[in-house]
Amino acid sequence: MPDKILVTREIPDAGLRVLEPFDVSVLHERPPEREELLDAVRGASGVLSTATEKVDGEVMDAAGEGLQVVANMAVGYDNVDVAAASERGVVVTNTPGVLDETTADVAFMLLLAAARRLGEGERLLRAGRWEWWGPKQLLGQDVWGKKLGIVGFGRIGQSVARRAKGFGMEILYHNRSRKPGAEKELDARYLDLDDLLETADFVSLHTPLTDETSHLIGERELALMRPTAVLVNTSRGPVVDEAALADALEKERIFAAGLDVYEDEPDVHPKLLDLENAVLAPHIGSASVETRDRMAVLAAENIVAVLSGEEPKTPVNG
Ligand code: NAP
Repeated sequence: MPDKILVTREIPDAGLRVLEPFDVSVLHERPPEREELLDAVRGASGVLSTATEKVDGEVMDAAGEGLQVVANMAVGYDNVDVAAASERGVVVTNTPGVLDETTADVAFMLLLAAARRLGEGERLLRAGRWEWWGPKQLLGQDVWGKKLGIVGFGRIGQSVARRAKGFGMEILYHNRSRKPGAEKELDARYLDLDDLLETADFVSLHTPLTDETSHLIGERELALMRPTAVLVNTSRGPVVDEAALADALEKERIFAAGLDVYEDEPDVHPKLLDLENAVLAPHIGSASVETRDRMAVLAAENIVAVLSGEEPKTPVNG
């Protein structure tokens, strides 16, 4: 009998082809309900999950003793209880590296759109309210030549910095560890978080979501930012206190924000929905045809490796 694999969402065919030797059940396009997940996972040797499913000890116990691997189709794995997996001898894997450039594109897209008021302008035009070109109309902030502060200077943070170099931007960064190689390559300057927030014209967040980074940017941190500054978040929603951000944007304490992620997805703070200076994307950081193929294939290959007794390509634990 082939091993049973539960794929929690519809994923690109490229990933499913890798899993052909197994008995694969795919749930649906929408995220499964909790009870549905607990039921469907029974007897699975491998689970291919996405960031929308909470995979904790209860899910692992529901799968049973045969569970060997949880392959998360995301680089972030805050939705998986890694300690619970390790206790049960379950390997957890993620998909680092294959989505860096695609996600960095979205961060830069949000940075430009928020700085140059693209969302507001498009809404004006589509509503038939654009009456003329105006010398003082829709004036934004220049991006070129400005200071970009990157918080979390890992794979994606550095990919964003490379784009910024093309815009003649100066790179500042904050990270829990210094990155001498990247500092040299990108001519980047290390600052502590408060100094970075006070200095940067643009702040882009690229840390994982952990206990330390939850609400890393709150009321106090937003108050340190320049009134002309733009905040970009493509990391995870809870890294920013969304209510505090909505308040800062409403009171124009900062110029704008470009967001791809939210504290309680798919819900978005109601105030943000009404603000012209918030550019809001529906968690599309890695959403390109090519990258989703690569993510699905890597997650599936990790499952194949573990079930064949080999080292997975990108383990999180073990
Ligand atoms: P990465 O290469 O691991 O980079 C993360 C960086 O954050 C590392 O340099 C890490 O420092 C640093 N860091 C961790 N905790 C920190 C803290 N408390 N304070 C300061 N810096 C800290 O990860 P990545 O591949 O760039 O991905 C980053 C995150 O982006 C993912 O975890 C995921 O949540 C998010 N993401 C979102 C999307 C989307 O669709 N919007 C797509 C992809 C990824 P060390 O080097 O010292 O560990």
